[in-house]
Amino acid sequence: MVDNGVRDGVQALDCWRPGVRLTKFTDLALRAVMRLAVCEQDGPLTTQEVAEAMGVPATHMAKAVTRLQHLGVLEARRGRGGGLSLTGLGRQASVGWLVRELEGEGEVVACEGEQPCPLRGACRLRRALRDAQEAFCATLDPLTVADLVGSPTGPVLLGLATRRPD
Ligand code: SF4
Repeated sequence: MVDNGVRDGVQALDCWRPGVRLTKFTDLALRAVMRLAVCEQDGPLTTQEVAEAMGVPATHMAKAVTRLQHLGVLEARRGRGGGLSLTGLGRQASVGWLVRELEGEGEVVACEGEQPCPLRGACRLRRALRDAQEAFCATLDPLTVADLVGSPTGPVLLGLATRRPD
């Protein structure tokens, strides 16, 4: 179950694709996954380091990291040399699956709510938008997390500044 309070509390992305808008929460989670996907080359990172590298508040990133842990995508090891790392599931995860899990069951249009739309029980537009939403995720299904960090993205991720303890 997605924490709707967290998701709704963070502003939605400015970038749009037809029919679907990803929440900022999902974007932060995907950024964390991508950064950690290249971790094998520079070791585990803390949530703070991932947040700094991605230029976002650590508190927001912490919520995304918690959700990713619940999904089994990330694991955290304590102690010296510890930190966040992707699990086997995380490395092989489909991007479409991740987006579905992070976005939850929300619809593109708010048909229900305080002022529900009178057409909501028999709306062909609603069905078409649901289909478009599913098609959006289906487009991402063949992509894995590993695919996202190929060149040129991977080298850029590795070059992002992180503050390491002395
Ligand atoms: S017109 Fe259809 S899609 Fe739009 S709010 Fe009403 S039920 Fe939802």
